[in-house]
Amino acid sequence: MNIRVAHLYPDLLNIYADRGNIAVLAARAAARGHSLDVTAVSIGDGLDPRAYDLYYLGGGQDREQQVVAPDLARHAAALRSAHADGAVFLAVCGGYQLLGRGYRDSQGNELPGAGVLPLETVAGERRLIGDVLLRCGWAHDLTLAGFENHAGRTILDAGAEPLGSVISGFGNDGESDAEGCRFGRAYGTYLHGPLLPRNPWFADRLLAESLEHLSGHVVELEPLDDTLERAAHEVAAARARQRGGR
Ligand code: GLN
Repeated sequence: MNIRVAHLYPDLLNIYADRGNIAVLAARAAARGHSLDVTAVSIGDGLDPRAYDLYYLGGGQDREQQVVAPDLARHAAALRSAHADGAVFLAVCGGYQLLGRGYRDSQGNELPGAGVLPLETVAGERRLIGDVLLRCGWAHDLTLAGFENHAGRTILDAGAEPLGSVISGFGNDGESDAEGCRFGRAYGTYLHGPLLPRNPWFADRLLAESLEHLSGHVVELEPLDDTLERAAHEVAAARARQRGGR
């Protein structure tokens, strides 16, 4: 099947090469005989909420977020209806913040969000930088390893679910043990750059849910040989355990 991907603002939200996550999804889809049809959607473009199975937003600095936020807000209703219809969202760092209700940046600007995720973000003084390791209780305690670098402190609404609980690192706000947010098939996280290459189970979850949105039935992906990916995960996890933030 051909998974339809909207890559939102790839020209502006691509700090730490977040677009590499799309390459991983494409390779893992191809290994199962599927493909990715990626459409770049940027400033001024239209957005048909029925046209995509997966929406992807990378990270960006406050400067890029100031440009993106008002344009993304135009699509808030479309994105919320796509989410309600079961489309998949993956949003990283700056994109994660803008998928919430809003972000007050480090200069005090109030940037609007798309309101897909039940959360708000306010920039703090100190940046939260370092390696991170999470445990995902909703996924049989599988772990996610990555790297974070953000000023924003993200607060989830009461009852909202994090993506994982922090084993090492700062997470959403450096105080609670929550990292990221999971709401239906929308996933937001501060884990940057090579998130999916070293967390292949999560890449497959996103792919399976995208295929389910496309086909209307449950999809089981056959396992791949992830020896290298698992080794990369172990290196990143060990680094987080040794020197993750706080
Ligand atoms: N500008 C945002 C912050 O500092 C997001 C940064 C990022 O995407 N790395 O919190």
